[in-house]
Amino acid sequence: MEGGISGTLIWYYYICKREVWLISRALEPDQEDENIVIGKFIHENSYSREKKELDFGNIKVDITDNKDGSIIVQEIKKSSKFIESARMQLLFYLYEIRKTSADTKGILLIPEEKKREEVILDEESEEKLEKAIEDIKKIVSMEKPPKAEKIKYCRNCAYSEMCWA
Ligand code: SF4
Repeated sequence: MEGGISGTLIWYYYICKREVWLISRALEPDQEDENIVIGKFIHENSYSREKKELDFGNIKVDITDNKDGSIIVQEIKKSSKFIESARMQLLFYLYEIRKTSADTKGILLIPEEKKREEVILDEESEEKLEKAIEDIKKIVSMEKPPKAEKIKYCRNCAYSEMCWA
């Protein structure tokens, strides 16, 4: 994995940087390394063209081995809430997959809003992702978490007592 950076951290990075720090310190022994899971899928399913659901806790993605050897990663969302997080997390998986195999592209589906978005790892999005990865590395290496800032998400956040008690 990219220096200990996971897709989950990317997701939270676009919501709350303090949470990125707190999650990076949390012990989650049961959480599987997303990259190992993806790598295993590619290894075991190459050319099988089967669709497989991978569960990464905060998101589930379907990975399909395409006819032309490319890999398609699809995520179905209930709404476009946190769409930037979802998009960037999907990009992160594409980024990691591309290191191990051929072409890859992502698809974000929001059936209830009749939306479909192709997520492509082009130069611009790759640059944006790499900047986020660098920033996350800085955040997680800080001794203390960034200051809490009240946002809508705080209400449903597992850390809300810690931040706002
Ligand atoms: S409660 Fe709010 S400020 Fe604290 S970690 Fe959660 S989202 Fe961030």
